[in-house]
Amino acid sequence: MTNSIFALLGDIIHTPKAGEVEIHYGSYLVCRAGRVAGIYPRLPEWFENEEVIDCTGKLIIPGMVDMHLHAAQYGARGFGMDLEQNEWLHNFAYPEEYCFEFPEYAEKMYTSFADELLHSTTTRACIYGSVHTDATVTLMKKLEQRGLRAYVGKVNMDRNAPEYYSETLDGSVEETLRWLELSNEFKKVKPILTPKCIFNVSDALMEQLGKIRDSHYLPVQSCLSETKGELEQRGELCPDCNTGAEAYSRFGMLGGAGGCVMAHCVHSDENELEALSRAGAYIAHCPASNLNLSAGIAPAARCLRDNMHIGLGTDLAAGESLNLCTAITAAVKVSKMHALTVDTETKPLSLVEALYMATKGGGEFFGQVGSFEPGYDFDALVIDDSPIAGNGRCTLLQRLERFIYLSDGKVEAKFIKGDKVL
Ligand SMILES: [Zn+2]
Repeated sequence: MTNSIFALLGDIIHTPKAGEVEIHYGSYLVCRAGRVAGIYPRLPEWFENEEVIDCTGKLIIPGMVDMHLHAAQYGARGFGMDLEQNEWLHNFAYPEEYCFEFPEYAEKMYTSFADELLHSTTTRACIYGSVHTDATVTLMKKLEQRGLRAYVGKVNMDRNAPEYYSETLDGSVEETLRWLELSNEFKKVKPILTPKCIFNVSDALMEQLGKIRDSHYLPVQSCLSETKGELEQRGELCPDCNTGAEAYSRFGMLGGAGGCVMAHCVHSDENELEALSRAGAYIAHCPASNLNLSAGIAPAARCLRDNMHIGLGTDLAAGESLNLCTAITAAVKVSKMHALTVDTETKPLSLVEALYMATKGGGEFFGQVGSFEPGYDFDALVIDDSPIAGNGRCTLLQRLERFIYLSDGKVEAKFIKGDKVL
């Protein structure tokens, strides 16, 4: 359907600016060549006899963007949620990721993962695989087959990991190059360099990855200033860096033309936030995960209002669900606690701001994505909220709020760049 013209007729909501919502009752969202042509109360003359998909009474919102999740932890979701980070990693995350060494396991788990993602509100995502090249290619294939658009990374990790699930410096470099070669076959799913975090990647490996990034013009994803423990160990791991961001920037791994996503940034100080801002890096705010692993609360409201790039991540499986609605509600909740206990000057995030982060905030990492402004990629969700729509006195925004808070996050139809994928 990519090059055709068609329209969705329904109740349309989007957030073209942070904190501002645009609402169109019973209107037409028109797609032309995979992009949004506009929102119209009546069909424009040039539309003529093109197809109208009647979604009257249903909500139509932009597809959501998950800026940080671990597909290889899909089988570990809902386990050890009362543990702290290190214990959880060693008891659940690493043993689970190790299993992706076995092709049959990767095939089975990544099929289930991609199927659940297809039915969710997520249209685009930045995804970690495991250290395994072949399993990561399997993951890319499953996503591509379902029409989902994503950046996927083979994880690099050569220190402070259990012996059964670690790489050597040379092995990690060789496998990264082999994985990049194999990734060429995909069109909708693209590779992203994925040094797990500075705790798990030596300077020597980071230097090699910086060179690979330059020669292949790649984006980067990693984790930054997630826990207090990480800050305490930084002195030992990166003795000549004042901030975690510096440990990436000196190897050309922060910002840059290829783009960069840093997950968490819970404990980033002023210098680090400024470095991220200057580099144009994206923050993936992962409030559900930060709660579960006692990481802390990131200053998301402030970052958003300071015009930094910030989106939302589920951080599956430290966040228990790949349903991005849970990240939106968690973002609002933790922001209230932050305003109450840490930064009393900053008002907590509104639902509309959190919705912006889940759509356009993260979407901009993918280009013109996450909004229904003309020219944006036609990424749209059709939601049947009739079972929870209330007694008919709700506004459209209240209906969307109920969907976000009360539903299982499953959508009725999904379009990505004009293609109907569900
Ligand atoms: Zn993570």
